[in-house]
Amino acid sequence: MKKAGSVEDFEMEPVSVPTSPAGEISDDLNEEDGRKNSCLKSKVVAKSRNILVEIRGKVLALKKLVEDKWLQPYGCISKSDTTRTYQVWPGNNVFFFHGRLVCGPDPRGLLLTTVSILVSSWNFAMYNGDDLSQFPRLVVPFSVVLTIIVLVSLIIASTTDPGIIPRNDSASVDEIGPSNGTRRKRVIVNGVELKLKYCRVCKITRPPRSCHCAICDNCVEKFDHHCPWIGQCIALRNYRFYLMFVVSALMYFIYIFAFSCWRIRRRMLRTGTGLLGMLKHFPDTLALVSFSFAAIWFLGGLVVFHGYLISINQTSYENFRHCYLDSKNPFDKGIFSNIKDILCRPSPSSRVDFRAEAMPST
Ligand SMILES: [Zn+2]
Ligand SMILES: [Zn+2]
Repeated sequence: MKKAGSVEDFEMEPVSVPTSPAGEISDDLNEEDGRKNSCLKSKVVAKSRNILVEIRGKVLALKKLVEDKWLQPYGCISKSDTTRTYQVWPGNNVFFFHGRLVCGPDPRGLLLTTVSILVSSWNFAMYNGDDLSQFPRLVVPFSVVLTIIVLVSLIIASTTDPGIIPRNDSASVDEIGPSNGTRRKRVIVNGVELKLKYCRVCKITRPPRSCHCAICDNCVEKFDHHCPWIGQCIALRNYRFYLMFVVSALMYFIYIFAFSCWRIRRRMLRTGTGLLGMLKHFPDTLALVSFSFAAIWFLGGLVVFHGYLISINQTSYENFRHCYLDSKNPFDKGIFSNIKDILCRPSPSSRVDFRAEAMPST
């Protein structure tokens, strides 16, 4: 598969940020270090890309095997001569159910997240259930309901098109501009001038707040970040499901942490053993408490951070790049309007119909 872009193609133009002054004093040693660093960086990028291509190839081979061996013989799917857009899509995404589900290229993070949640839930239901007899019988069933909510939001966030922008494969040289592809357009949004950068991979001028994800190899609208734990870009169309996943996972881990702590305390009082004794007799519950504790801190930090970002209407990408350090954020409409804008506005439909018949390339 062709990979036409260089590393610079994957960087979004910082919005309304003056560039830092060039011409810093540098000696030969610094130049040598700089060369070594850039060489190392390009090697790491090339290596990561090779790994991703290899993983994607294996996932596609597995998918084809499942379709050929099990789905087609039993009539679950039919063979078709029509080539669909998802079959020839040049990005790194992996598609399931004939282009209905759009996933990122690396499923390892998603698998790890799913297994961690399932193992925690199983551990809680198996070992803590016996000690919770003095609580209403709904404690364990409620943990199962929470687990289902967490997993459903995780699956929706990881399989929804995040807001992929269609490529412009028919762009002429005139549209592309200079050979270095740095032609910029400017737009005014709420009185603030924003610079838009041309993406040489997708051959489009990126809309405001969009960015080319180097992992998925697509330009994505209102790009927030590429989440390794979900294995998918988090952007305009799946941000709410991502938030739902993070908040429900936080509630879930607080829930099992509280009851697991209660179980440990009860056992310690009953048997008179200390923490070391508990480690010997109940390693499962202590492992669950430790894992839940770490998860609560991690997820709690994410919830607070994204709550702050929603209140000021910024994406994680814009925040990390300090895009509005020296200029007003033109998308900030005040806390309540920002919350309404991000959480309550209907999600736009996908800009790419992955199930449509593929147009022959010109
Ligand atoms: Zn792009
Ligand atoms: Zn991505």
